[in-house]
Amino acid sequence: MTDSSIYESVIGLEVHAQLLTRTKIFCSCPAEFTTDPNVNVCPVCLGHPGVLPVLNKQAVEFAIMIGTATNCTVNNNSVFARKNYFYPDLPKGFQISQYDKPICENGFLEIRSQDGEVRRIGITRIHLEEDAGKSIHDSGFETSIDVNRCGTPLTEIVSEPDMRSAEEAVAYLAKLRQLVQYLGICDGNMEEGSFRCDANVSIRKRGESNYGTKTELKNMNSFRNVEKAINYEISRQIGLLEDGKKVVQQTMLWDADQEAAFPMRGKEEAHDYRYFPEPDLMPVFISQVWLNETVSKIPELPESRKNRFVEKFRIPVYDAEVLTQSREVADYYEQVTNSIEDYKMASNWVMVEVLGKVNELKTKMTEFPVSPARLGSLLVLIADGTISNKIAKEVFAHMLTDGSDPIEIVKQNNLLQISDSGQIRLLIEKIVDLHPAQLQEYFEGKDKVLGFFVGKVMKESGGKANPQIVNETLKEVLTKHKEKK
Ligand code: ADP
Ligand code: ZN
Ligand code: MG
Repeated sequence: MTDSSIYESVIGLEVHAQLLTRTKIFCSCPAEFTTDPNVNVCPVCLGHPGVLPVLNKQAVEFAIMIGTATNCTVNNNSVFARKNYFYPDLPKGFQISQYDKPICENGFLEIRSQDGEVRRIGITRIHLEEDAGKSIHDSGFETSIDVNRCGTPLTEIVSEPDMRSAEEAVAYLAKLRQLVQYLGICDGNMEEGSFRCDANVSIRKRGESNYGTKTELKNMNSFRNVEKAINYEISRQIGLLEDGKKVVQQTMLWDADQEAAFPMRGKEEAHDYRYFPEPDLMPVFISQVWLNETVSKIPELPESRKNRFVEKFRIPVYDAEVLTQSREVADYYEQVTNSIEDYKMASNWVMVEVLGKVNELKTKMTEFPVSPARLGSLLVLIADGTISNKIAKEVFAHMLTDGSDPIEIVKQNNLLQISDSGQIRLLIEKIVDLHPAQLQEYFEGKDKVLGFFVGKVMKESGGKANPQIVNETLKEVLTKHKEKK
């Protein structure tokens, strides 16, 4: 019988993040994605004989930023190396990467595991390298080659085998993605592959100190698929061991449609890359001055921004976590708080109404039709009693379609809240007269008809009556009726 609780899974991730530099890592071709094949190329990124690569300074600075943000040591000296292999989409026959002297080493990220405990995941190294081109296999027997991607800058972030479940791996990956996005060094898009991960998975009996044989999973293009692929592989490996078989070290490709992973290449085909120091590039020297300058460009990171939100705005940790999920949302919220002092109300509106709409419309935060200043004005109208919360939602819906000023919308549509108790009293009298049966129930002590009357009055006022004044006045009116009786 299979008892999965006697096994422990061990996971290490290798993450490739495509850097948002304007140009490629060793030439001046644009690094941006384009659908026209083979246009962003030059002799350098095509690897013609005799050309010389020149290192992109911005790429180095981006690597310093992610290294610092993940608590790594940034090495003053690092070295590029040639990783030699043949592949049709690699015209040079080698990839320029880093080997024994990467730019950053020995860092960590902290994640929260399912049991709520903080776990520290070691980061072995972060290095810089160039991407290869793309082989496109979808035209029958032929394979097309697009070399636009050749020479696109990547950082590879290699973790220690410190994760113990698929959930932890996803938590680590999400944290890393949030960081690169905050730093503005990578767009973090997993579907398009600008942020991708290979997952190394092994299992061992609980309490054992040696690691088991690992396999490597590739081709997962969402968090969901990373989680599914790892869980699939854990079960497969447990199955093998339970059957008295052995795990074979190999690379597996995840098939999202079949929800299964299939071997890609076995150990006998394992590469020998014959790494050697890249003779056409100097070692990378990072002076203390350059390092300090680059570190000073790092924006406030999610963790500290979250803590600052809790302290400064006195909002719950949960709110602060949601609001600092991305830099754009956090910026939006902070701008709303410039106009309103009720920070919790601002938080509710951003979390529920704004993020709800952003998800529904699938818009970017920066392109959201209601500016933070306009939302701020709307919230001021609620706070000073000009409109009710309910009406505010209607006004917000208007603002979404034309982005106009909430005060104008309120005026034009005659939505001002009715707080005049005389006017409200008239409404109440009318409703009470119309419902003698309910009034009788009230006399008989059925207090729940109060809610019935409030509902009717609110409806009659088109949602504009101030609910607090309605409640107070209703009690007065009903008491009077009772006394008269
Ligand atoms: P390789 O020599 O196959 O490239 P590395 O030691 O360089 O292996 O590790 C590559 C990745 O695999 C790292 O992220 C590391 O944490 C992870 N890893 C190494 N050994 C194991 C293991 N036994 N189980 C799970 N992951 C592992
Ligand atoms: Zn080029
Ligand atoms: Mg390795």
